[in-house]
Amino acid sequence: MRVHLDAIKDTGLHLSYEFSPARDEGLADVEQSGEAVFLTPVAVSLALNRVADTVEVRGHLSVRLRLTCARCLAEFEQDAASDFSCVFAPQPEERRHPTPGDLELSAEDVGLLFFDGQVLETDEAVREEVMALVPYRVLCRPDCRGLCPHCGANLNTGACNCAAAPVDPRLAVLAKLKAP
Ligand SMILES: [Zn+2]
Ligand SMILES: [Zn+2]
Repeated sequence: MRVHLDAIKDTGLHLSYEFSPARDEGLADVEQSGEAVFLTPVAVSLALNRVADTVEVRGHLSVRLRLTCARCLAEFEQDAASDFSCVFAPQPEERRHPTPGDLELSAEDVGLLFFDGQVLETDEAVREEVMALVPYRVLCRPDCRGLCPHCGANLNTGACNCAAAPVDPRLAVLAKLKAP
């Protein structure tokens, strides 16, 4: 969302809006990679305050995700939410004519973003936070029992026949020896 500096009064500016992952290229990539499916738009609420020539942003995000368990491969839904803060500063002259490897990286390291002229774009900060919300390797539940390595059955739904008749490795060796 584009915010004009004039809209941020002395008492600050509060914004609540929905950020649509489907219409955002960066987040569409997350869905295509299969890491997560966004089941709802991202509910964004932001408090913006001017501090000297910068704008401090405190935000809250929430979204419902469909995720895939890393252990049993089952899909499940999960609410995700986070609080974050960042600072927008006026675009420095150096950035308009960047020299390789200079302050661009260090500015991003400290959560500093830039605005051009009188308008700042909150989408960049929101997108980064939403990406951080998507867990890298997640389980459907802490004690997920995973899949049987032999038959592939989901052991959360009950034991498979392999578990009922465990093969003793010593007997397996004997069986091999007896085989013609
Ligand atoms: Zn699982
Ligand atoms: Zn099995």
